[in-house]
Amino acid sequence: MRFDVFSLFPEVFQPYLEISILKRAIQAGLIEVNTYNIRDWATDRHHATDDTPYGGGGGMIMKPEPIFAAVEAIEGKPPACPVILLSPQGKVFNQQLAFELANYERLALICGRYESFDERIREHLATHVISIGDYILTGGELPALIVMDTIARLVPGVLGDEEAALHDSFTNGLLEYPQYTRPPEFRGWKVPDVLLQGNHAQQAQWKREQSLIRTLLSRPDLLLKADLSEKDRKFLEQFMASQLKELSPKKPTSNLEEESDGKV
Ligand code: SAM
Repeated sequence: MRFDVFSLFPEVFQPYLEISILKRAIQAGLIEVNTYNIRDWATDRHHATDDTPYGGGGGMIMKPEPIFAAVEAIEGKPPACPVILLSPQGKVFNQQLAFELANYERLALICGRYESFDERIREHLATHVISIGDYILTGGELPALIVMDTIARLVPGVLGDEEAALHDSFTNGLLEYPQYTRPPEFRGWKVPDVLLQGNHAQQAQWKREQSLIRTLLSRPDLLLKADLSEKDRKFLEQFMASQLKELSPKKPTSNLEEESDGKV
């Protein structure tokens, strides 16, 4: 899988790519990340990549010429691969979109900066506009890293243990169950007995139920789209009924979320 990143600050990528899983994936040739400085395609005397907005409004706007020239020089004219523009106005990135994008062999990513980029980049160069969430960062470099990191994990061979990724939150539509490691007791807090015993069927059932509870308490919206079995539904109904029973009129809290530990 090849990622080509177009940015005014390509130096920010290297440190993150030189550690851990991504470093090993690059060394093994499973992923390739090329960074390009958009300024190298600015042709005027000052190598300007931005200009003031037509109609006023403050801030600077990234010019179209250097970005089109950079992307077309590397990806072809028109580009032969998807061109992702990072923008808070795009489709919000999630695991499902990562799975879809992981099907491509090559992706180009354009990182914005300043107040905005010329709209013609979105209209005539980008094939995808992706946001990483409803907040505004100073630039598209962190969003590009987030998108690349998420997709890279899905490339076969990148993760040491492929099975672990199957249980990741969102992969089956639910949040992952709680995980523990040694010691079996720490400061008086014990690992649930079911995980210490060797009964795999019971452990699998416990994990499924914990996933369901955790999703219900933290992200109930996910349950609406999750692929739930009849057994799952019955379990959730019983769990909710038991929680409601426990609610006493004297308790100040009044809903399930406040009854949880409140951690998100
Ligand atoms: N004025 C723009 C707007 O309201 O849409 C925000 C510009 S932001 C300061 C500069 C650049 O950072 C954007 O062009 C984009 O590339 C990147 N960026 C900021 N927040 C982002 C987000 N949530 N998702 C993806 N990219 C983002």
